Amino acid sequence: MSRHPHIAATDPELDDLLGQEERRQAECIRLIPSENYVSSAVLEATGSVLTNKYSEGYPGRRYYEGQQVIDQVEQLARDRAKALFSADFANVQPYSGSPANLAVYFAFCQPGDTVMGMALPHGGHLTHGWNVSISGAYFNSVQYGVDRETQRIDYDQVRALALEHRPKLLWAGATAYPRVIDFEAFASIAKEIDALFIADIAHIAGLVAGGAHPSPVPHADVVTTTTHKTLRGPRGGMILCKKAHRKKINAAVFPGLQGGPHNHTTAALAVALKEAATPAFKQYAAQIVQNSRALAEALLARGFDLVTGGSDNHLLLIDLTAKNVPGKVAAQALDRAGIVCNYNTVPFDPRKPFDPSGLRLGTPAITSRGMGLEQMKQLGHWIDQVVAAPEDETVIARIRGEVIELCAQFPAPGLAD
Ligand SMILES: *Cc1c(COP(=O)(O)O)cnc(C)c1O
Repeated sequence: MSRHPHIAATDPELDDLLGQEERRQAECIRLIPSENYVSSAVLEATGSVLTNKYSEGYPGRRYYEGQQVIDQVEQLARDRAKALFSADFANVQPYSGSPANLAVYFAFCQPGDTVMGMALPHGGHLTHGWNVSISGAYFNSVQYGVDRETQRIDYDQVRALALEHRPKLLWAGATAYPRVIDFEAFASIAKEIDALFIADIAHIAGLVAGGAHPSPVPHADVVTTTTHKTLRGPRGGMILCKKAHRKKINAAVFPGLQGGPHNHTTAALAVALKEAATPAFKQYAAQIVQNSRALAEALLARGFDLVTGGSDNHLLLIDLTAKNVPGKVAAQALDRAGIVCNYNTVPFDPRKPFDPSGLRLGTPAITSRGMGLEQMKQLGHWIDQVVAAPEDETVIARIRGEVIELCAQFPAPGLAD
């Protein structure tokens, strides 16, 4: 039986595809650290009639009539965001994380200005000045990395580069960094050179909200985030900032970069922010980190090399060099076994970005399913078996069956209820 009888009636072809994807999400162990399962309540809000409404502008100042309800929805989302993160101000309109970051550039920079962020191959995000992104093409981008020995951010190097190049914006935040980021250290470097400090917490917003990672909000001029990763909301973006930057940020998002906000997403974000303010979410955030540490231990015990030697957030980076298996081969074999992750570069990777040495794993989605320490041990065992024999389809098929059985014991939010 379809979960969407109306789609089934009007578009059986798409209904079939949705059914296939639902089954895949239910029956796979999702270790992609940027993915999660939203609750049924968040899912309902994203499918609500708010998708029908235009509302360019901000609450109380719109360019369309009929905002009696939408204004309240957006205000609710803003108020909940401010309360959850103890922020002065929240803009909940960015369509996603990348537009949120682009809005920050537009708010404070002119093309050609110097900006500084973490290099993509060292775990940074495209939008922090990497050359193929508009952020690297339109600005004079200086990139910092991790230390070759410790594989951690080298704050002395960041400071030295900042003093030398004097960027207007200093970005902190990452997509593939398994350790706590010292936002206070970044803030003090930015202060020294009179730069604005921008913290991008896309990956860790849920950990910050749940108290499992220190918050950058007291230290940063602006904090950007996606809403769909550890925060477990709809696909979207959000910008928090100090009062002094409120006008510039608002003008940069609309009319600077975007037209009408996606009101159904704003509503879903409001729901997710309410969920994230509960004691259960605090526990969830703590469990993500415990699971990540347990998975790290299980992998280390089986002889895997982990970048930085472990994890203290939601994410792990395996360096497969010593196992003699390319990241992509391992990721594809794991996918066939029902364990979904991504191949990823490791710092100073001798291989190419499209065929790198590493695997990136994370625990947010499996923690949403209620998996715990025992399942992390099991996962370490399965990953080890697949990586040891990535072409052994018998082993892979056996594990695929076991994965389906385990998934049945841990129904995913939004899919099961
Ligand atoms: C995911 C991510 C983004 C971009 O988010 P999109 O919603 O994919 O555009 C930006 N910054 C960081 C650090 C991220 O991890």
